[in-house]
Amino acid sequence: MTDENDFDVLVLGGGISGLTTAWQLKTGGASVGLLESAESVGGCTRTERRDGFLLEKGPFNVMVRDPSFEDLLGDFSEDLSIVPASATAKKRYIYRGGRLLAVPTNPVSLMTTPMLSAGAKCRLLSGLVASGRSGDTEATIEQAATRRFGREVADTMISAVISGVFAGDIARLSLPACFPSAGRVDAAARSLLGYGLASAFRSKRDGGARRKRRWRGLVSIDGGLGALTAAIGQRLGDDLMRGTRAEAFRATASGFEVDARCTDGSTRVFRCRRLVLASSAAEAGRLLEPVVPQAQPMTDLIESASLVVLNLGFRKGDIGHPLDGFGFLVPRNEPDFPLMGCLFADSVFPHHAPPENRLLRVFIGGARDPNAITYSDDKLVRTAESALGDLLHVTGHPVLVDVCRYDAAIPQYHVGHAEKIKQLRAAVAQQENLHLVGNYLEGVSLNDCVRLATQTAHGLLRKEHHESITAPSPDSATATHATHRRDSPNGTRDTVDARPLGSPAVRARR
Ligand SMILES: Cc1cc2nc3c(=O)[nH]c(=O)nc-3n(C[C@H](O)[C@H](O)[C@H](O)COP(=O)(O)OP(=O)(O)OC[C@H]3O[C@@H](n4cnc5c(N)ncnc54)[C@H](O)[C@@H]3O)c2cc1C
Repeated sequence: MTDENDFDVLVLGGGISGLTTAWQLKTGGASVGLLESAESVGGCTRTERRDGFLLEKGPFNVMVRDPSFEDLLGDFSEDLSIVPASATAKKRYIYRGGRLLAVPTNPVSLMTTPMLSAGAKCRLLSGLVASGRSGDTEATIEQAATRRFGREVADTMISAVISGVFAGDIARLSLPACFPSAGRVDAAARSLLGYGLASAFRSKRDGGARRKRRWRGLVSIDGGLGALTAAIGQRLGDDLMRGTRAEAFRATASGFEVDARCTDGSTRVFRCRRLVLASSAAEAGRLLEPVVPQAQPMTDLIESASLVVLNLGFRKGDIGHPLDGFGFLVPRNEPDFPLMGCLFADSVFPHHAPPENRLLRVFIGGARDPNAITYSDDKLVRTAESALGDLLHVTGHPVLVDVCRYDAAIPQYHVGHAEKIKQLRAAVAQQENLHLVGNYLEGVSLNDCVRLATQTAHGLLRKEHHESITAPSPDSATATHATHRRDSPNGTRDTVDARPLGSPAVRARR
């Protein structure tokens, strides 16, 4: 680095996407700076401890599916303790006709559940065996689910599950964009039962060659998911600049200049060779507008759902329901019920509430009620209390209330999303050394954000290494190499041999 405002790579946005990108670059030997507009890191990921409760205001758990997330947790294993979800969490409820009905998990419970009519059950079973007729057009989740399992299953079970992930409308969400592997199976018009059996056989056959998973299923962290983002921020040290908002950037002969405004009102100009935008789609569009004018109309097309998360703590004796499960979700064929769903937080992670209390996490808004974030705290709490009262046999008022609003926070992968992202990426690629990460690109879950951020960082390290050996500088023979070992997504060991981006050779080219 030539001065404290110069970096090889600058990352704009300190949510999980930006933090992971910066962390991977730093461990790969890069000189990296991360600008975060807020005073704390984490973006959507917000945890607070209050009165013995552990309040997850944003994400609640992670389904660890990708080796890059395992590696990230592994990097912080000395600072953080991973907590698996309790066995109780396997039971899930759906709200139906004023009652909570357990989601069937085996053929017997499926045949006996009052959640579906006899006709719907037969249709669901035949849909599992039959090959689906899939057309050429990109299917919505509603179209694929109705074609495969029938209207009642789509309206009741599928709409509820999807609202728990995307807070969205299955009539508009794209199956291949939201769930790429399900989209591939559907497009191949294969029988789901046949596919399931073939996958089980393949996984048994390849079991020995696969990388051993350290964590399975849902996990959290002893101090909440905010402890992970805080730990990454801490290890980034002075490379993380909190309270520093990127206002604009421009391309220069040697890379980019970024104008930033700090919370104390001061301004700074940063210089970098490579720039990674790790904000929401809307903010990326705003920042890109002067440099890649075609980008903003594309990011404007990506809608995002708003929602409110209420954490409500109760005295144990004030809730008559055993809360024996993960929680419940509400299907779209229950339009008069005002909640999207409710998680039984301490049933999943007992450390989220003191022993004498229970903690409920209530969701209001999404496609069900897009205006919910404009309601007063009082109205939101009253709505939740009246909806939960009879359902969970609640006899007292909450002893703890926390209301957290998320405005346009969950990108909606509507039909055409993949094409929009393809065009956006093509436009951005015209600016060499400009990159995008974030939850509007290749998956909204923490796992997906970490996967994309890790791939992007490793790609940058490889690119840098390639450039440093194909464009030798006078001192390149003596410049040191950082060799960083990583497990690649396919489970094999992958060596990222990267010359430190701040090495003399790199500085000479600035
Ligand atoms: C209520 C809720 C519950 C969720 N539950 C789960 C869950 O249980 N499990 C799961 O896997 N996923 C969950 N998700 C999804 C997941 O949490 C998000 O998709 C993910 O955290 C997004 O991370 P990100 O870094 O891409 O974006 P963000 O978290 O939005 O971070 C973007 C960051 O960029 C900063 N920024 C923006 N503009 C600038 C600028 N100009 N200059 C500097 N900084 C800037 C922002 O301040 C912010 O910190 C949930 C999401 C929400 C909203």
